[in-house]
Amino acid sequence: MRPQFLYEKNLQGVANSVKRKQEQYRKIVRHLYYNGAASIAEIVKAVKMSQPLVASLVDDLMGYGMLLDNGVGESIGGRRPNLFCINSEYQYVIGVDINLHTLNLAVFDLSNKQIFREETKYFDLENSDEYLNSLIEKIESMISQLGIPREKYLAVGISIPGLVDAKQGLSHTHLSVAENGLARVLGDRLGINVLLDNDARTMALGEKAFGKAIDKENVLCLNLSNGIGLGMILNGELHSGKNGFAGEFGHILIDPEGKLCYCGKIGCLETLTSGKILVKNIREAVDNGQPTLLASYKKENRKIDLRAVVEAILQGDQFAIDQLNQMCEYLGKGLVTLIHLLNPEMVIIGGKIAHAGKFVIDPVTMSMNKYAMSRISSETELVCSDLLDDSALMGTMANVMRSVLSLD
Ligand SMILES: [Zn+2]
Repeated sequence: MRPQFLYEKNLQGVANSVKRKQEQYRKIVRHLYYNGAASIAEIVKAVKMSQPLVASLVDDLMGYGMLLDNGVGESIGGRRPNLFCINSEYQYVIGVDINLHTLNLAVFDLSNKQIFREETKYFDLENSDEYLNSLIEKIESMISQLGIPREKYLAVGISIPGLVDAKQGLSHTHLSVAENGLARVLGDRLGINVLLDNDARTMALGEKAFGKAIDKENVLCLNLSNGIGLGMILNGELHSGKNGFAGEFGHILIDPEGKLCYCGKIGCLETLTSGKILVKNIREAVDNGQPTLLASYKKENRKIDLRAVVEAILQGDQFAIDQLNQMCEYLGKGLVTLIHLLNPEMVIIGGKIAHAGKFVIDPVTMSMNKYAMSRISSETELVCSDLLDDSALMGTMANVMRSVLSLD
């Protein structure tokens, strides 16, 4: 079910007229959320309703506490008009970014500002009741720490890796222990509506609402961390496919003679290019005496993980850079297929490897130039995300607001 603002839950009257009223209110709130403060005249123009109707709806929404009078704006001849805006403290959204080894929590107000943010390291994702319980405990402890009444939480947006059916609220790969579906189980236990989607798609929503994909209609967002995820914005909309399984880019066949992938197939892109493979190859080389900055990690008994590898790359470690270059050659090859099929205006690289910046952009660009039809690839801009580790959390906020404010 679509989450609702507090005032929407309290509307009274005949079902049909409540529905009509709700839609009219939503058009106004939607315009102000996406465009910022506006005068009655500006709202009238945007929502295509009469001036007296808009004035009375705005009046109602102020009465509910949803909107605020934001003072006077610029005059366009005559009296300066009053501006109205969303009351950013009217309700809040909880963002939960579940990763394989870390958990990020945030609370957003309705101006998209994070009023709370917490990262928990070594929070390893397991398909167990224990994990589910500790996740709920974490969220509950944040709620009691903030002291905001529970009904003020509009929804919880969740980003989780793996196969996710967002419409049904099902997570197939992780936390499938939640028997009635993850969204329903969490929603019942927290007493707050829950919306979930796969991490790469949530990141794509974050990029579209707050990152480099703003004002772009066709964008591919790669989540390059331990695996490879893909979120697609096509014609301005998130593309999920029939069951929400679209974007399994990591499992396209690249090398028929290649290695066995954990998905059960041979030669998937992820067996050649992923953070996991990069780390594995570097660890093996270090064990065999390869000179690299990362060799000191072994001596000092520190773990060589993806974060350490990216740091070494940024410090100019030749071996780590060579390994990344090799990986990017395959990635570019895979990307070319997508670009030829979908003709995107931008490809955004996100995830942990995006921290490597030009060290990932340059070799992927070279590989794309080698394998793509230049006419098509020259129209596609390749960039790193500037939201970086925030993109999935920002995406949970975007996902909740997209659902609350949808006009269907
Ligand atoms: Zn595979």
